[in-house]
This record gives sequence, C-alpha cells and structure tokens, in this order.
Amino acid sequence: MSVVRVYNRGYDVDTGIGELLHTTSVRHAFGMIRREVADPVELAIIEDRIIPTALELTRELSGAWVEGAGQRSVGFSYRAIHERDHWTCAYCGRSVSKRPPCEALLATVDHIQPVSRGGESSWWNLVSACKECNNRKGALTPSEAGMDLRFEPYDPALAYRVGGQVEALPVLLAV
Ligand SMILES: [Zn+2]
Repeated sequence: MSVVRVYNRGYDVDTGIGELLHTTSVRHAFGMIRREVADPVELAIIEDRIIPTALELTRELSGAWVEGAGQRSVGFSYRAIHERDHWTCAYCGRSVSKRPPCEALLATVDHIQPVSRGGESSWWNLVSACKECNNRKGALTPSEAGMDLRFEPYDPALAYRVGGQVEALPVLLAV
C-alpha cells in the first residue's frame, strides 16, 4: 500500500525540506485534502490514478501539536468510543443514541474485525454503529458485508487538531 508523507506547513517544494510529521494512507490523504486540512505538494501516477505522495498542512502546527502522544491511552470505554465518533454510525452516518427515537438507531459498538475472527477491543477496531447496521454486518468484515466505514477509528490520545479537524497518528507511531 502506498504511503503519503505529511509535512508541517512550510514544506519547500524545491528542496524537499520540511518537517515530516507522520505518514498516512492514500485514502486518508484524500480526506485531508477534501477537508482542506492539507494540500498535496507531490503527486505520482500509479495504475492510471493521480495520487498524492506528500502533503503539506494548510495551517502550521506548533508547540505541543500531539495531544498526549506517547502516553498510554486513558478512558477507554464503550461510551468513549461513541464520544470519539460523535454518536454517529460509522456505516450509515445517522445519529445514534442510548435513547433513540426508534430501535434501529440504538447506539451499539461494532467490532470492525469481528471478535469471532480475532478482532480485539481496541480504539482501532471499534466504532459507533446503529443497531440496524450492526445487525446487518453481523460477524462479517466491512468488505464482506459491503459496508464502507465513513471514518477511520483512532486513539484520541494519539491525535492532533488542525483547522478544527482531528487528525489521527497512524498506529505505527503509537508504539
Ligand atoms: Zn447505521
């Protein structure tokens, strides 16, 4: 899988010198561009697609840009998963709640990789889901169920904010 380098604002295109913050997936990079969090500074053509290989943040990060990086994740709970995901179903995008207007919208937590298939209970494998989507997905993976994740899960302790958006550090940096 291709990896995209993410530079702080101030990347020099001519020399390629900049402050490398982390790397991310192409998919996530497109999301950052769409949200105007970052601009592409280097592109490549891979399999007839133009993809970014390096991004520059649209706003400079300074000081303690990583919220709690390197610390142990605290406050992990099912409720914390819902709060991280803004009580939004990761599959259909509807609002979920513990007291929903209809049972389909009951807040549940879905294991992306099912427990029966070795999926663990971690920040990276759990997302908010409505009861309807969770039941439909059952013990399948998202690709098996044909259900795309609308956002990628992350550990809030390993994230930073830029332009009002939370950007998660990849798992590799978390170790
Ligand atoms: Zn749903």
